[in-house]
Amino acid sequence: MQWMQAGTELIREAGSQYLSSGELSHDVLCCLNAVFGKSLMPALQLIDEKKVTRVTSPSGRWVFRVSGSSGVPYICLPGSAYCQCPAYKYTVVLKREAIMCKHVLAARLASEMNEVEVKEVSDLDLVDIIAGMD
Ligand SMILES: [Zn+2]
Repeated sequence: MQWMQAGTELIREAGSQYLSSGELSHDVLCCLNAVFGKSLMPALQLIDEKKVTRVTSPSGRWVFRVSGSSGVPYICLPGSAYCQCPAYKYTVVLKREAIMCKHVLAARLASEMNEVEVKEVSDLDLVDIIAGMD
């Protein structure tokens, strides 16, 4: 999983650059594009449109909720590249054309860039959200 590791480091780097300068440099964007390919632009758009929410509960557990382009929300777990969207199944798992779909990428990038909305729910509600995943 070398690419995944490189991707994670790159996301962290992009996040710290964004936090210090307020933007992503051309160089960082080129690197992100090389690693994430066609997931990158849609992911940046999701972040731009503030579609990434971190749903937290009092127990300290949390998940990302990313509203897709059609408005359907996808739940992404921290530390996992799994997503319920069709692109995950076909592009990431079957064809291996990308290492993560735009939702997971948007969630991770937005998190490092501090561009997530935070929503608090009860522990039970969070369990419901996770149990509602495929
Ligand atoms: Zn997805």
